[in-house]
Amino acid sequence: MDSVFLAEIPWPEAERRIAAGAPVFLPLGATEQHGHHMALGVDVVIPTAIAERAARAVGGLVAPTVPYGNRSQPRTGGGPAFAGTLNLTAHTFALIVRDIICELYRQKAHKIVVINGHYENIAPSVEGIELALDHLGRDRVGDLTILRMDHWDLVQPQTIDRIFPDGYPGIELEHASVIETSLMMALRPELVDLSKALHDGPAQFKPYDRYPRPMEEVPPSGVLSMTEGSSAEKGEWLLADCHERIVEIIHVEFGKGKTR
Ligand code: ZN
Ligand code: MN
Repeated sequence: MDSVFLAEIPWPEAERRIAAGAPVFLPLGATEQHGHHMALGVDVVIPTAIAERAARAVGGLVAPTVPYGNRSQPRTGGGPAFAGTLNLTAHTFALIVRDIICELYRQKAHKIVVINGHYENIAPSVEGIELALDHLGRDRVGDLTILRMDHWDLVQPQTIDRIFPDGYPGIELEHASVIETSLMMALRPELVDLSKALHDGPAQFKPYDRYPRPMEEVPPSGVLSMTEGSSAEKGEWLLADCHERIVEIIHVEFGKGKTR
């Protein structure tokens, strides 16, 4: 029962750890296609693993990961036309984030770290946090600090240069590509089969959206860039960067002497 997962400990233990000042991590995921070569749960697996490692290092807890994400978009996740992608509207997603944060605060968790793993969750997770602050009353939560981060932003530029010596396609196009594939090869290799990759990218998107969405520009495999060059070793580099950075951030934001 020494798990960092809130769902794996009894309530008196949760109460004790929160009272002792444990930061609570909230991973945000999605159930979304990730090509022919990876499982639908990539955006759940990655932020959950990053949160688990960080929580172990800083004496934190990990709240259950939100397994559904805001609506997948063609230019960043392939969009809705793939079997298995289960979308929430931005409105619903923001309200879920709001409610969980309000519940954590009611439970006296005052250090909350939101770790996002799905591109389309960026804006509605910010909105969910803002709605929580509106709901709780911004002038009444002087003891609350919420940090929100997207795991790909925690990677050092030198690591990106090492992984992409020929140039980085950018995180929007990285969907189901080298970063996510490498992370999955490091974390859950049994959920990756590179022999199934189709190599039909990279996508050539127009710089605008048209509705209802034409899907011709999305590579049929659902991989927006490429999988060539993915490896578990690169995944470990990415995980190490994320981990180091989060531990440092937790120290700076919640370190001794900091009251909020
Ligand atoms: Zn993903
Ligand atoms: Mn995604």
